[in-house]
Amino acid sequence: MRELALGSRRIRLATGDITKVPSDAIVNAANSDLAGGGGVDGAIHRAGGPSIMEELDRIRGSGCPTGSAVRTGAGRLPAQHVIHAVGPRWKGGLAQEPELLASAYRASLRLAEEAGAKHVTFPSISTGVYRFPVELAAGVALDAVAAFLKSEARRVEAVTFVLFDEATFAAYEAALERLIPL
Ligand code: ADP
Repeated sequence: MRELALGSRRIRLATGDITKVPSDAIVNAANSDLAGGGGVDGAIHRAGGPSIMEELDRIRGSGCPTGSAVRTGAGRLPAQHVIHAVGPRWKGGLAQEPELLASAYRASLRLAEEAGAKHVTFPSISTGVYRFPVELAAGVALDAVAAFLKSEARRVEAVTFVLFDEATFAAYEAALERLIPL
């Protein structure tokens, strides 16, 4: 576990399975069809049960554009809310991928604020099937979360990245070190 204090707010890094970590709002790395999938999305729907997909079926409409997010209940997960965020697929870096990834984090945190969540957990959005290079994604993610906690957060007090493997944890740890002097 690593931690950075920003005034009274905290960014924490942990390893593990995000479906097992209690929080107020768990962020899912969803796709724009909100249709479920593999990776963390599959794990969240399996652990949370069918009520999450039933709710998505009601709100899906034409989907959720890349860089945005929607909120549902959390079913059997140890949280009140799931925030389904759509990160970008990596296309080589010239398709606004960093901006879209930052936008997915900001949109998630805005929904968490609206829901009154104090503790929010994130996976490493876009760095699995979507192939966003993890060293770059870690910097974008931490910059976006730190900026939000400094300027916009009222109710969100802590954000924990729950990272599934050691290589991803190491990339976020290095990016957190770079954030400290800011
Ligand atoms: P994306 O399509 O946005 O790339 P993925 O689910 O494929 O989403 O991967 C995002 C990250 O989530 C990867 O680092 C992957 O290893 C990780 N991951 C997969 N399952 C879990 C889980 N249960 N808890 C936390 N992270 C997970």
